[in-house]
Amino acid sequence: MRAIRRFTVRPVLPAPLSALGTLAGNLRWSWHPPTQDVFAAVDPDLWESTGRDPVRLLGAVSRTRFEELAVDEGFLGRLREAEADLQRYLTEDRWFQRHVADGPRAIGYFSPEFGITAVLPQYSGGLGILAGDHLKAASDLGVPIVGVGLLYKHGYFKQSLSRDGWQQETYPVLDPDGLPISALREADGSRATISIALPGGPDLVARIWVASVGRVPLLMLDTDVEGNPDHYVDVTDRLYGGNSEHRLRQELLLGVGGVRALRVYSRITGAPAPEVFHTNEGHAGFLGLERIRELTVAEGGPRLDFDTALEVGRASTVFTTHTPVPAGIDRFPRTLVEQYFAEGSGATPGVPVERVLALGCEDYEGGDASVFNMAVMGFRLAQRANGVSLLHGHVSRGMFNGLWPAFDEAEVPIGSITNGVHAPSWVARELFDLAAQVGADPEDLDSYWSAADKAPGEQIWSVKRQLRETLVHDARRRLRRSWEKRGAATAELGWIDDALSPDVLTIGFARRVPSYKRLTLMLRDPARLKRLLLDPERPVQLVIAGKSHPADDGGKKLIQEMVRFADDPEVRHRIVFLPNYDIAMAQPLYPGCDVWLNNPLRPYEACGTSGMKAALNGGLNLSILDGWWDEWYDGQNGWAIPSADGLDDPDRRDDLEAAALYDLIEHEIAPRFYDTDHDGVPTRWMEMLRHTLKSLGPKVLATRMVRDYVRQLYGPATDNARSLNSDYAGARELAAWKHRVKAAWPQVRVEHVESSGVGDAPEVGAVLSVRAFVALGELSPEDVDVQLLHGRADAEDLLSDTTCTVLALTESYEAGRHGFGGQVTLDHAGPFGYTVRVVPRNGHLSSYAEMGVVSTA
Ligand SMILES: *Cc1c(COP(=O)(O)O)cnc(C)c1O
Repeated sequence: MRAIRRFTVRPVLPAPLSALGTLAGNLRWSWHPPTQDVFAAVDPDLWESTGRDPVRLLGAVSRTRFEELAVDEGFLGRLREAEADLQRYLTEDRWFQRHVADGPRAIGYFSPEFGITAVLPQYSGGLGILAGDHLKAASDLGVPIVGVGLLYKHGYFKQSLSRDGWQQETYPVLDPDGLPISALREADGSRATISIALPGGPDLVARIWVASVGRVPLLMLDTDVEGNPDHYVDVTDRLYGGNSEHRLRQELLLGVGGVRALRVYSRITGAPAPEVFHTNEGHAGFLGLERIRELTVAEGGPRLDFDTALEVGRASTVFTTHTPVPAGIDRFPRTLVEQYFAEGSGATPGVPVERVLALGCEDYEGGDASVFNMAVMGFRLAQRANGVSLLHGHVSRGMFNGLWPAFDEAEVPIGSITNGVHAPSWVARELFDLAAQVGADPEDLDSYWSAADKAPGEQIWSVKRQLRETLVHDARRRLRRSWEKRGAATAELGWIDDALSPDVLTIGFARRVPSYKRLTLMLRDPARLKRLLLDPERPVQLVIAGKSHPADDGGKKLIQEMVRFADDPEVRHRIVFLPNYDIAMAQPLYPGCDVWLNNPLRPYEACGTSGMKAALNGGLNLSILDGWWDEWYDGQNGWAIPSADGLDDPDRRDDLEAAALYDLIEHEIAPRFYDTDHDGVPTRWMEMLRHTLKSLGPKVLATRMVRDYVRQLYGPATDNARSLNSDYAGARELAAWKHRVKAAWPQVRVEHVESSGVGDAPEVGAVLSVRAFVALGELSPEDVDVQLLHGRADAEDLLSDTTCTVLALTESYEAGRHGFGGQVTLDHAGPFGYTVRVVPRNGHLSSYAEMGVVSTA
């Protein structure tokens, strides 16, 4: 029988135990083992059987157990200590308070998914895990971020397998009352809500939930509200499900609703309004339109004109693009967006729909004018934009060059900040404990890396074996459950007790299954893989996991192929596919692997973070030089699989790359792993492990990443926004100035360039003097920079490795003509070339390419 309505009854804790509620109510427990120990002490068996979920644990503990604990002085002491520690963590000055002067008062961080802990399953993969790690690291650093996301009734899906290895999806209901979140309430106790006008219907209403991620609040919106029609209730049914219109509604809720939720949150709690808005991927981009509405037409707002509001919004917005895969970018039919932003009745009433449509329009070469592109809008609504690794920044500049067609790819104003991972969430406790034994301070990660040299090899190796063993046990448990679901009888499953071994070289591969990640590359030559797995002297074992998007049958086929291979009785003790990859599986998986395999089609892996998590646990990466690995592989911290990118034939490319992969495992990796000294320690392996920890540890951290965001993007955005926003005079001037520059630009010309000083046989050290005569029409010399670009010239006179020298105004003539001059020293031998160009100049621009206009000699 089905219930018509369900709810979760929250436990009433005896007064002396009320701190348990406080600890369970802040997700900091999820990366703080001492707090987890307190929960485990409440009831060790229940702690395990509730999946280490404090809210479920407290709901399941009997009253007699609570009564016992309420008079257990030992327990109460630990509880008080844990609570005091949390209070200290939440209130003391941290990096941001100590080292950042005049930083933003608050930052709104918008993301469609957040992967914070296994017990709040609101993520599908890397994007969500990254967002979770961003919030946690911000909390550790004291950076005043507020997260904004949606609360999906079913989260993503749970994966299981059919008998023949086909992915099965289920969507269990998540009851918000059973989750570690709380309702945001008005002073009178009623639920705080926001609403959005939708075409042809009543307003969509959403409730606001708050998850406490250490010091960082995460606001989550859901539409399962009484009064919403059913098709509105479904807006937050699941992550990445449904058709285009469903997706659009979710993104409206996230962007427009998210800004409204922030306002409600500030009104109720007194929290400062964000000075910076960060959109994690294009999905949340509509936030910029709601801010324009606030600034142009909203009751009580400053009533700016559209262009001024656009400048205010842009100055304070950061856009991070996350994928070079075209299918990863949201593109809606233009007509659909038109409907949802209809002028009088749409989501942002009063904002001209033509202006909205223009922001997402692919009005560049190769673009499709019938679609509305969320990434394109993202760039137009944000003054600062970045990719997520050096290589991805480069790829993104190429991909979006069409938005700045007058500039070379290298000058496209998209930077990069390489992703990172939150060490306290991902490093095995056993490794931190070992580091502490040799003097490392658990609060100071730098001491963790240096502990890599201090800890004796046998000890590190014995901890690694222990971690492998933990993984093996977890894998067997999952395998058994999976086979039971697949319909096997217990009598058939004896082999699982011997599946995998804690003494065999363990390679991990777990990630979502889009085709570019090439789950099945390792199956290219099945016989060769089999030989590697079954090698009598130096066997290898593989632990594999990954979900395919429910609509992606191609991905499901790859999973099936993998499962069928792993089902073979000849190899099933050495290769396993574990269903339902999620945070709970990931946490023991990374530490238990010796090698982390990553073989995407270069350059589609924008960054990749799973290899970073492996590295922090002393795992060695075996990866195509893509994403972060392209940047930080140094020849000694793992292995690079040579990539045959550039090869047109994809089959041949896969053959070559797979062969290189087998070769590396057979000739480099396995021999090194099994080459042990008289204590059983593989010394040459240990060298690489130590080097990995020391060289990569400090770089791959989410705290490094968040500091980079603060210094390179949030800080400058704050400064610029403040200077534009006082009375909005700066923004008005900037908007008017841009208007004037655009109108006058057709008259801007480099008329004549003269040079002297190098003769006809120039040598290194010679000084080149350049004079340029330019016509600026209506503009004045202060409105522009005249740049001398110089560098290596190739056979077609194309410049590369260019340096830019700004020429100084030397004289002015009639009719808007001016002379500019300057010098450069020729410091390299070889072909040299230069040119002169004019670009707009204004202290409020983040780059001379920002406006996309240039006039070249
Ligand atoms: C880290 C992580 C990911 C992302 O892995 P990539 O290497 O970036 O693909 C996905 N899912 C889970 C559960 C993770 O922990």
